[in-house]
Amino acid sequence: MRIAVTGGAGFIGSHLVKALLERGDEVHVLDNFATGRPEYVHPGAVLHEVDIAGEEARTALAAIGAEVVYHLAAQADVQQSIRNPRLDADVNVRGTINVLDGCRDGQTRKIVFASTSGVYGNPPKLPLREQDPAEPVSFYALSKLTAESYVRLYGTLFGLEHTVLRYGNVYGPLQTAKGEGGVVALFMSRLRQGQPLHVHGDGEQTRDFVFVRDVVEANLAAAEKGAGETIHVSTARRVSVNELVAELRKLHAGEVAVSHGPARPGDIVHSCLDNAAAARLLGWKPRTALRDGLEATYRYWMNV
Ligand code: NAD
Repeated sequence: MRIAVTGGAGFIGSHLVKALLERGDEVHVLDNFATGRPEYVHPGAVLHEVDIAGEEARTALAAIGAEVVYHLAAQADVQQSIRNPRLDADVNVRGTINVLDGCRDGQTRKIVFASTSGVYGNPPKLPLREQDPAEPVSFYALSKLTAESYVRLYGTLFGLEHTVLRYGNVYGPLQTAKGEGGVVALFMSRLRQGQPLHVHGDGEQTRDFVFVRDVVEANLAAAEKGAGETIHVSTARRVSVNELVAELRKLHAGEVAVSHGPARPGDIVHSCLDNAAAARLLGWKPRTALRDGLEATYRYWMNV
């Protein structure tokens, strides 16, 4: 199958590209290396160095004519979105429209869109369900929510098949400390440098940490199953930053020091996503226990 992956030089995108190539697909990567890296682009993929915020992304997708487009390219840094909402919207909203137009021009059957649990803001109750109201507390979450709506409306108006996946905090090898959900990567890089782990606030904030290999499997399933739904890709487990530190202490031979600073604006306090819809609609469940995922990530960091 011919596939296009926007953001295929990034953390999650590069894992997805590898899995697609391993099963024999022809894979096209669209990326401008804003945060992705040239060395993350699999040599078996065809690289299109384009900015999705510009028309060239549409033209490239039209020419590729992929059956399935996985749209992962994004400005995925919450703090950057607060500093520069315009840039964030250019990439995440305008960029998504360009990708959707490219899908139409290229007669793409289906788009799978990478969205985020961040769209809910600070919810009154957990675990979150897909029907719960979205109340973004950052421009990043707002632009992702807006992009979701464009994906759905292109489906309604133009018949483009789509699935919106809202990820929890994805972690794993190749993640950099900059993007969304980067706390695991940040901690790993501090451990490697022998520096204290810096915790914003009291460390009791929770996240739903999902391993990148499981996220790839959810994406593969979403290309074939599901029609028009919005689906969580998560573990449905709440893990506090303090628990994460405790797990890292078990993995790391040396001392693990922790320093505390103030909580950051735009950061969500608690997050946990129900994942029953993914099981029902995609036949997907997370398979990697936190300890195993952290161990694989730790091994990667200690060897780079
Ligand atoms: P990443 O920053 O590693 O990957 C994003 C990729 O998009 C990079 O390769 C970057 O160079 C590319 N990109 C950015 N702007 C671009 C532009 N204007 N034109 C072309 N390419 C551009 O981030 P990631 O963690 O792999 O995230 C992938 C997707 O998953 C994003 O859409 C993100 O919002 C979403 N997501 C990630 C998480 C997480 O925990 N990592 C959680 C929820 C959702």
